Amino acid sequence: MTELAIVGAGPAGLMAAWQAAKAGHEVTVYEKTHAVGGMSGSFTIAGQRVDFGSHRLHPSTPPHLLEALTSLLGDDIQIRERNGRIRLYDKWVAFPLRTTDLIRHLPPTFSIGSAMDIIRRPFQNTSGDTFEDEVRKRLGKTVSDEFYSPYAEKLWGIHPSEIDSELARRRVSASSPLAIIKRLIRSSSPTGRIFLYPKNGYGQIVEALADAVIDAGGKIELEFPIEQIALEKDSCILKSPRGDRTSQLVWTTAPLSALPKMIKPEPSQEIVDAATSLRIRGMLLVYLVLDQPQFTEYDAHYFPGLETRIARLSEPKNYRDGADPENQTVLCAELPCWTTDSIWSATPDELGEIVRSDLINLGLPQVNLVTTEVRKLPFVYPVFEKSTRREREILLNWGNTFNRVLSFGRQGLIVPDNIHHTLAMGWDAAHSLNSSGAFDHAQWDQALSRFEQHVVED
Ligand SMILES: Cc1cc2nc3c(=O)[nH]c(=O)nc-3n(C[C@H](O)[C@H](O)[C@H](O)COP(=O)(O)OP(=O)(O)OC[C@H]3O[C@@H](n4cnc5c(N)ncnc54)[C@H](O)[C@@H]3O)c2cc1C
Repeated sequence: MTELAIVGAGPAGLMAAWQAAKAGHEVTVYEKTHAVGGMSGSFTIAGQRVDFGSHRLHPSTPPHLLEALTSLLGDDIQIRERNGRIRLYDKWVAFPLRTTDLIRHLPPTFSIGSAMDIIRRPFQNTSGDTFEDEVRKRLGKTVSDEFYSPYAEKLWGIHPSEIDSELARRRVSASSPLAIIKRLIRSSSPTGRIFLYPKNGYGQIVEALADAVIDAGGKIELEFPIEQIALEKDSCILKSPRGDRTSQLVWTTAPLSALPKMIKPEPSQEIVDAATSLRIRGMLLVYLVLDQPQFTEYDAHYFPGLETRIARLSEPKNYRDGADPENQTVLCAELPCWTTDSIWSATPDELGEIVRSDLINLGLPQVNLVTTEVRKLPFVYPVFEKSTRREREILLNWGNTFNRVLSFGRQGLIVPDNIHHTLAMGWDAAHSLNSSGAFDHAQWDQALSRFEQHVVED
């Protein structure tokens, strides 16, 4: 039996904790906030469970993880049909995209441009290593310039010609126009449009995992920020304003860019500089409580264009068949931004007004606004800047050099991954630890190679 401290009670940390505790290790999870779940948690506004932005469990979740979650949540995980819309060319188009809808709603210039791109594709010079180059190479200039590039700029805050092509590989699953057509056909069938969602909000997943950690003998310490990890010969000392703790192993899901300042003895200046150079985009989540039973029938609206600040708008009630209040609904608007932007310190009322006027400009229904609440996520989208590719590599390599400390999770491996990817990281970390406490680094390296292949689903 080994003492294992896990930093962060998000999905990655909790899955690792559950599996390691089940295997008989002495596990404690340290979470800096007052609740479990990280970005995948839920909380209550006006009597309704809401998430940190639109969250779905995708059917592509690996079977062993889905089985594990089903063993915890049973029938509470509902199978839902996606019902979203995307704003393209000032029109609403069903999202996920459907062929008939695209033909009916998008202007002929789009179809003709895309068709010309397919014809020209074999003859074009497609070199280049930016997000823009990669998407144009795979999908053509029309799809790239009209859809992916503005959306990328909105999410990551820099022009796609400054973003590393690696991000396109991780975020854009279609490899060619033909792949898009295949996907369109698939998503036009009902099975291509489903998602999974627990009836009490997305956070029910992480809450069930937290209960499973406790049932397996693990502990979870909330409001316990870890500020320092001191490496000793046979153990690590975790320092927190709540007190010091000792553990043989430490697994951290905190941002990897924060680790060089936490680890003692301090790493080289090169590592500190690499960490400082990496930027992570933040997000404001603006929740509008409406005095009406429903805003629209859609679960989410997507806004790739740069003319609005909102990237996505979701209505949590429409994600589930749950026990939500009948006469009110809540909207959640996602506004990607830098934490240094002036909007980051705007008041809830100011943000509510920005969202409300965006909705009106987009031709959406009037809202009967009761109140606005805001949540701020400072670290959401790691920005794969082309200019910091080397620094990212340096930091990731350094993060994988410790015997007693392991870094994983969305922030721990600096990736834009989905929950099922981060659950896989937690699972694989725990299954690389044998019953005597020896960590199989070769097995973990193989897992890291698998994580490299993750492609995000929206
Ligand atoms: C707007 C939005 C929408 C998304 N939609 C989807 C979706 O539809 N489907 C999907 O699959 N995924 C979605 N995701 C991604 C999903 O939320 C993440 O993949 C997942 O939550 C990452 O889990 P994690 O455990 O790696 O990290 P996190 O969820 O970030 O958890 C890390 C935890 O560590 C804690 N922590 C950090 N530093 C310290 C410290 N020093 N001491 C103690 N605790 C610390 C944090 O407080 C946090 O609780 C979305 C994410 C966002 C932001």
